Amino acid sequence: MNVYDGQRIAAMLLQRGYAATEKIADADIIILNTCAVRAKATDKVFSALGRVRRAKKTDALFGIVGCVAREAGAAAFKRIPDLNFVLGPQSYHKLPDILENPDTKLLNIDLGGLEKFDELPESSTSPAVAYIPIQEGCDHCCTYCIVPYTRGREISRPFENVMHDVRHAAATGALEICFLGQNVNGYKYSDNTGKAFRLSDLIRETAKLDAIKRIRFTSSYPTEMTDDLIEMFRTEQKLLPFLNMPIQSGSPDVLTRMNRPYSLDLYIDIVDKLKAARPDIQISSDFIVGFPGETDADFEKTVQIAKQIRHINSYSFKYSPRPHTAAALMPNQIPENVKASRLAALDGELNEIQREFNEACVGETMACLCEGADKTGKKLVYRTPYMQQCIVDAPENGNAPQMADIRITAANKASLRGEFCDQN
Ligand code: SAH
Repeated sequence: MNVYDGQRIAAMLLQRGYAATEKIADADIIILNTCAVRAKATDKVFSALGRVRRAKKTDALFGIVGCVAREAGAAAFKRIPDLNFVLGPQSYHKLPDILENPDTKLLNIDLGGLEKFDELPESSTSPAVAYIPIQEGCDHCCTYCIVPYTRGREISRPFENVMHDVRHAAATGALEICFLGQNVNGYKYSDNTGKAFRLSDLIRETAKLDAIKRIRFTSSYPTEMTDDLIEMFRTEQKLLPFLNMPIQSGSPDVLTRMNRPYSLDLYIDIVDKLKAARPDIQISSDFIVGFPGETDADFEKTVQIAKQIRHINSYSFKYSPRPHTAAALMPNQIPENVKASRLAALDGELNEIQREFNEACVGETMACLCEGADKTGKKLVYRTPYMQQCIVDAPENGNAPQMADIRITAANKASLRGEFCDQN
């Protein structure tokens, strides 16, 4: 989501005659686009602000946008007095105000809903993978999560606006569309005739575009994985056989305290339905370890469920108490050293599962999307349909096909090696 927001901000600045620079000392405007989901991310923002402050030109405009801006609000100006602007994740379209009045301080952390999508210009070129937000905010209110505070209530964007973005991306270079939302599979929109649209409608419509070769979406909430959406994995071959569906914990007690009221049986049942629709599908998850009150036995259940589902490409985090969340006030907070050792143990298992999956891919041929070259320019980096990185020798003629059938020749826990299929 921050990648997308950043692109919209960059497009606005380019349109106004700005150009990108790698050097902070050359910049006339410096914007940190921030994430507040864990305390570490927030801390990094403030240390980066300190570095930027020392390196920038004295008259450069300098500010933060995104969730840390909303979390910190006016206090950000107290901590870093020379900040010029602090704009929340739904008010960054107000940036032109500071360009016009550079001598003021601009604070806006309002939840403006969908306004930002209408006010900023579109980029004239799309990256190969276009991230397209289809909703803002989240209504789930997981007790650990700051997102409902920083990004507000869940609102789905109008179907036609999303499809406009998809067509624009397809016309300007996108090969893959990744639909984004905090609760992406909860997308619901009714137009003024009362016609209702779901994520499955967006996928079906997007799959009709010749330019688009791959479609995916993230992140899904387990109980919103409706049958119409599961059916898409059977009928739309452009939808990748890969789904991020965070389970967070394998302990029913912890899930209850997280306010994630689904049973493990329900989760397993959804995975079974997905596999019936697309036998080669793989599931990824996010995990939180060391949630308040998590016992060794609870944690063991998390490891067990990861091993049972065989989650690939997963993300695991130590629980981080966040302001404005219920879990931060719960008793039995887990000591840092326990969180760290549980995280290491879970990561060990997840790495093993990933290595096993990567090794099972050797000998397969997969349609992969080019991400670019490594530093030497001699190797190309591709993404498989399962989001694994696959390294291929660049062809002698210098051509790097954007989409290519690649035969996987070797694997380790972090990446794959492959060769183009038409080279024997
Ligand atoms: N709805 C989004 C949430 C974005 S945050 C999603 O499901 O992806 C991404 C992940 O960060 C969450 O799934 C969760 O595993 C993790 N996370 C969120 N809040 C956290 C916290 N307070 N401490 C540790 N991890 C957290």
